[in-house]
Amino acid sequence: MNNAEMRGIWDQACKLIEKYIGKNSFGNWISKLEYISEEGENYLLAKSNFVRDVVASRYMNEIIKALQAIGENINSIDIRVRQAAENTDIPPREELDEPEDKSKRLQEENKDVVENVFFLDEKLTFDTFVVGKPNEFAYAAAMRVAESSDVRFNPLFLYGGVGLGKTHLMHAIAWNIKCKDPVRRVTYLSAEKFMYLFVKSLRLKNSMSFKEHFRNIDVLMIDDVQFISGKDATQEEFFHTFNDLVENNRQIIVSADKSPSDLNGMEERLKSRLGWGLVADIHPSTYELRLGILQSKVKNFAIKIPHKVIEFLAVKITSNIRELEGALNRIIAHSTLVGREVTIEMAQDVLRDLLRANERFITIEYIQKKVCEYYGVKFSDIISSKRNIVVARSRQIAMYLAKILTTKSLPEIGRNFGGKDHATVIYAVKKVKELIECDRNFASDVEVLQKSIEN
Ligand code: ADP
Ligand code: MG
Repeated sequence: MNNAEMRGIWDQACKLIEKYIGKNSFGNWISKLEYISEEGENYLLAKSNFVRDVVASRYMNEIIKALQAIGENINSIDIRVRQAAENTDIPPREELDEPEDKSKRLQEENKDVVENVFFLDEKLTFDTFVVGKPNEFAYAAAMRVAESSDVRFNPLFLYGGVGLGKTHLMHAIAWNIKCKDPVRRVTYLSAEKFMYLFVKSLRLKNSMSFKEHFRNIDVLMIDDVQFISGKDATQEEFFHTFNDLVENNRQIIVSADKSPSDLNGMEERLKSRLGWGLVADIHPSTYELRLGILQSKVKNFAIKIPHKVIEFLAVKITSNIRELEGALNRIIAHSTLVGREVTIEMAQDVLRDLLRANERFITIEYIQKKVCEYYGVKFSDIISSKRNIVVARSRQIAMYLAKILTTKSLPEIGRNFGGKDHATVIYAVKKVKELIECDRNFASDVEVLQKSIEN
């Protein structure tokens, strides 16, 4: 990519970022960055550590959101500091003169950031976390740890696949503790950062201060701990830090993409330590949770998104919540920038690549077979007009699952059941939804079926 193209991309992204964060913040922070591409790697260049830290702590989400919205395929971006300014941690006067009402608060927070280099995203709180079946246990565990100051579960170990809300819950815990109990020293950092700081302290020969820092905190949160697998010296250090903190009755919260026992490349003693406290997993999202999350996100946008489009996204983007948010942001960006009306066709068009990546090959026939197997019904019966209660109920469930797990239209689904019309499918879907609401056993049957089809 040449420089002009890079500038074009960044200019477009900047327009969106300005919309997201307002003119003032944009002028103060984002307009000072450069977008650089070097040896196939893209990053942002800030002119001081201070600018980098503020941008990283406050505006990263918006930057990523904007870049994704204009079609850049990224989940994160580095911010680097211009060489000459590498060590200027003291903010230049002009950068502190934030002409907003919030400026004082901001300044204080920024000071905090510079001192601690650990960032919290203020949008990642318990309030913005949507709870559903797949994450209710992890949520409850996180709440419990955040609310009580006696250390009951140590460590709290949160695990689950990419983009399912682990980092969100950790930030939420940190915010909660910071607000409720500001004197408690909370440190949140990624395992990579932990490693980096450790290695740096060895190089600078001040590993004592590294140790002291970590041994002096009340709550330590280490995100994505799987990254320290294989790094023996860091593991060793982590293990000792861990033990010291536990012995002193400090809270530790750890996240990973796997359960403690599945963490390959991790020393046995560390694995077993990590599994000691409360282990809570986040399961892959369900249709209902995705719908809930989308509904809570669209409330914040001025643009009206038809419910049909929201349902469409919840059906189609199943990989993880981050992609789901990305899809929504892209739709909103398109409609804002080009003024295009939001419809299913528009979404299909704008999200072509994402939709392809999320394509699942679940056919109506596969659903029918699974349902027949589960209820012991003959395949020929489910596509017949038999009204025997078991057959009829199985047929309704299969229609319902076809509706939520495929993108087939109602008439198409009807046709696959021996030529029923779309009204029959609508009725079946409604009936099954009602039964799910009022009959727990029925609901769990449908859930088990749905899972077995999705996997
Ligand atoms: P992980 O750390 O597990 O990879 P994140 O916590 O970074 O995932 O979540 C990815 C994105 O999805 C974040 O923007 C987060 O706010 C959002 N998200 C995940 N789960 C939920 C939820 N239950 N409610 C609201 N937003 C969520
Ligand atoms: Mg994470």
